[in-house]
Amino acid sequence: MRQYIRYSFGFVLFLMFFATVPAITASATNSEGIVTVDQLNMRSSNSTSSSIVLILKKGDKVVIKGSKGDWYHVNVQSKEGYVSKKYIEVKPPKISPSKQTETTINVNGKKLELEFDPPTVKVPGGERILVPFRAISEALGINVTWNQSTRQVTAIDKDTNKHVVFTIDDVNAVVNEEAVILDAAPALQKNRTLLPLRFFSETFGAKVTWDQATRTANIDRVIKVEEVIEDVKSISQPVNLEGLQARVTASTLNLRLGPSTTEAVLARLVKDQTVFVTGATKEWLKVYVDGMEGFLNSAHVEIFDIEQKRIKVLASPTITTKDEQFILSWSKLGGTVVQSNVSNNIVQLTTDANLIEEIDLVNEAIELISYETTEAGTIITLTTKDGYSVIPLDTVSAFTLTFFKKSSTKKLIVIDAGHGGKDPGAVGNGLEEKEIILDVSLRVQKLLEQAGYQVLMTRSDDTFLEPGERAAFANKHKADAFVSVHANAAENTSANGTETFWNTTHSGPESKRLAEEIQTSLIQKLGTFDRGVKQGNFQVIRSTTMPSVLVELAFISNKKDAEMMAKDDFRQKSAEAIVEGILKFYK
Ligand SMILES: [Zn+2]
Repeated sequence: MRQYIRYSFGFVLFLMFFATVPAITASATNSEGIVTVDQLNMRSSNSTSSSIVLILKKGDKVVIKGSKGDWYHVNVQSKEGYVSKKYIEVKPPKISPSKQTETTINVNGKKLELEFDPPTVKVPGGERILVPFRAISEALGINVTWNQSTRQVTAIDKDTNKHVVFTIDDVNAVVNEEAVILDAAPALQKNRTLLPLRFFSETFGAKVTWDQATRTANIDRVIKVEEVIEDVKSISQPVNLEGLQARVTASTLNLRLGPSTTEAVLARLVKDQTVFVTGATKEWLKVYVDGMEGFLNSAHVEIFDIEQKRIKVLASPTITTKDEQFILSWSKLGGTVVQSNVSNNIVQLTTDANLIEEIDLVNEAIELISYETTEAGTIITLTTKDGYSVIPLDTVSAFTLTFFKKSSTKKLIVIDAGHGGKDPGAVGNGLEEKEIILDVSLRVQKLLEQAGYQVLMTRSDDTFLEPGERAAFANKHKADAFVSVHANAAENTSANGTETFWNTTHSGPESKRLAEEIQTSLIQKLGTFDRGVKQGNFQVIRSTTMPSVLVELAFISNKKDAEMMAKDDFRQKSAEAIVEGILKFYK
């Protein structure tokens, strides 16, 4: 991920250069090519099986943005696509002598002795100054060799780990074995190789400024790039997704006006359809397709770079502080996987993302965040401050960590809404158990918090958890009590009423007393048939070490009970009764 940071910093320098050289780089146009065949298909990607974006004619001009194998990545009439290199002629621009005052080039503050005035070349959209490559490179500590027979220059830079090969009069260069198109071809003049000034900022991470009025170029690379990284680490590095493509993996996928499922649908995309990525908002990718710009849920696409390499992104987390909780939520773009391991005050996240926005965050809950790249992926390690606990939550589109401070005075109650996700629980009379009990559980949470308790929920949304995970959750957080909320069902539809279970394995007598308090309150408030307090061998109350109960509010399979459970009033009363039972238990 260091690698990525370095690129993004290079990109900043690139922009800085643009900002300071308006005369030369007013338009960021790249090399121009000309179509040499009667008809040439411009395609959406670098494959003859991809869709045709535009049909070009002989003599049509294309702007070359990049290169991939036998294909150029081009812009034509504000459209983007790929054309076969075979049918494109790339002409090196002609050199014209400089007409203005003499040029000065300073490298790291020292004036370079120039044997002749650097020329400028016209390129589509402006002109470029060509500067003597060897003299500047050597001043920067870059090793340069010249091969007369191939007319090639090889530059090796240890500072940036760059191996660069370019050829005189050819815009095609190779940087670390990747094809790169220069915006002007290197030239040979009086036995000196000349290269566009910009090349030093783009390739070797030098800071380059150009003052058109005095024709002075300053090239600085005193500070090593690695050292600069440490200074900018406190700032989150925005992931640059431009130039990437995404392919739909769902059978259909809505292209929406904005980054939300409530936004209008602009188009319905189909499986394997390819779109251009222009950005991202949370888990939504901003894309360009068929002349439209819109948003796609990134959980249903695969992202690729120009070389068809799969890209998985872990964007920088959103940070929320709510009550006494501190929540970090990372958006997972393009099918990213995150696995978590929480032990004591260390949280380790392992991700297969190959593009990660790093953050450096220190606050009341977090001591340290570090990033390490291994063969298994990138490991993000968070060290929490003393007194804080963490709850991880993994969903298709995001990974969330909730940090909370365990109160020394408040009782901690874990409320467990049963079932969830793929497991609806009991189903009948138009109701699903998982929905009713989540609603009741959330009401319990609210009331308990109002009563001064600290509450942790095993689930706060439609998520599935195994019974063992629920019990482990309560044990790990050293809860003072555990209440699992359920609704009942039986084959005999006349079965009805309320019952509460406890287990003898741990904290038996206390569990029994908690069950009795809650059951009594439920019967009083709900007026349901009293089925009593019973011993039950459910894992959630057997494996939990604190006083633990499992409440069955009423029967979904019974018409009268179900009618009651459908109502807000019954759910609120159920929650009040459970809270009342807990309050009595602690009185
Ligand atoms: Zn249940």
